[in-house]
Amino acid sequence: MSRLELKEFISLREYNTFRIESKGRYYLELKNKNELKEAYNFIKYHDLNYFVLGGGSNILLPELFNGLVIHNQIKGINVTAETSEYIYIRAGAGLKWDDFISECLELGYYGLENLSYIPGTVGASPVQNISAYGVEVKEFIDSVELFDMSLAREVFFKERECYFSYRNSVFKSNPNLIVTAVNFKLNKRPKLNLTYRDVAEHLKKSKTATFTPKDLRDLIVNIRKNKLPDPELIPNAGSFFHNPIVDKKVADSLLKDYDIPTFNSDHGKVKLSAGWLIENAGLKGFRLNNVGVYDKHALVLVNYAGATQKEILDFSRLVKDKVYEKYKVRLSIEPIIIT
Ligand SMILES: Cc1cc2nc3c(=O)[nH]c(=O)nc-3n(C[C@H](O)[C@H](O)[C@H](O)COP(=O)(O)OP(=O)(O)OC[C@H]3O[C@@H](n4cnc5c(N)ncnc54)[C@H](O)[C@@H]3O)c2cc1C
Repeated sequence: MSRLELKEFISLREYNTFRIESKGRYYLELKNKNELKEAYNFIKYHDLNYFVLGGGSNILLPELFNGLVIHNQIKGINVTAETSEYIYIRAGAGLKWDDFISECLELGYYGLENLSYIPGTVGASPVQNISAYGVEVKEFIDSVELFDMSLAREVFFKERECYFSYRNSVFKSNPNLIVTAVNFKLNKRPKLNLTYRDVAEHLKKSKTATFTPKDLRDLIVNIRKNKLPDPELIPNAGSFFHNPIVDKKVADSLLKDYDIPTFNSDHGKVKLSAGWLIENAGLKGFRLNNVGVYDKHALVLVNYAGATQKEILDFSRLVKDKVYEKYKVRLSIEPIIIT
């Protein structure tokens, strides 16, 4: 007999920002990491699948998930060490990401400002190495605490063991690893990253003499509110496709025919803008039944009403095919598809 407080056949609609109508066969609100051993026994005994749900902002759910949904609600923040320059802070995986940044700023711990207003939880931040406005979260992660469902025990990964790369990490392809807490190394003195184009342009225009970390956070929140659809009003999962990373010769050949923006990436490769490719394939604002390309930002697919996982995936295939037809570049999907 399981001592877990499980619910059955609960609706996950309010727990995913695409607002897909989905049900979980079993559902656990995970309040502390010790429950994971019990969850492991339950899964093994009933031979079930499982997945971890955070804020549901980077996920595509099926109509019925016939296994255990582990909804991470582990909270808590505490300082674990400090030097004259840095503060080491441990945050529970179920904390809301943006609340965590806000609290860090209140406490005078800096670095995460550019990642403000990204939906989701602290625990998911290392999973896809969240990034925005010139900053990747890996720059501030010291280590990650996990429960390994294949070994039924706790494990600990230093930053270098996480194999972070653009919107990716060792965790993204390994669902056995459940993040229970993240240890961050933040600055005690502000070190603002103002290099990103939208931020730099704003600063040039505003001519303010002082610009604080709080000002930077407010600016980022404002830019994001103007650019991206609010999932409460227009359900979506943010960027639906990765920005493709291609060989330099592919980029050079595209540049001969198109005025396409390119960005240097690691190992001599070149990053293209998926939003630009979709927009210039003529798809910005394109809608088919319940799903569409957002009319203000071509990288975002939106659910206009009651779309299912299948409808969204079928629509995304159409977008991928059109982009490939025109540019011979293959797009890949960013959100995790749960089956
Ligand atoms: C409007 C909007 C804007 C966005 N902007 C950005 C952006 O600028 N940059 C960016 O990088 N992303 C962005 N995203 C995507 C998303 O917010 C992030 O990927 C976020 O980190 C997902 O967190 P979550 O808690 O919602 O994860 P979920 O969607 O719940 O889960 C995503 C994946 O992570 C896994 N996961 C979740 N929690 C854990 C855990 N504790 N342990 C192990 N695995 C876990 C899940 O199983 C799933 O595979 C945006 C999304 C939206 C809707």
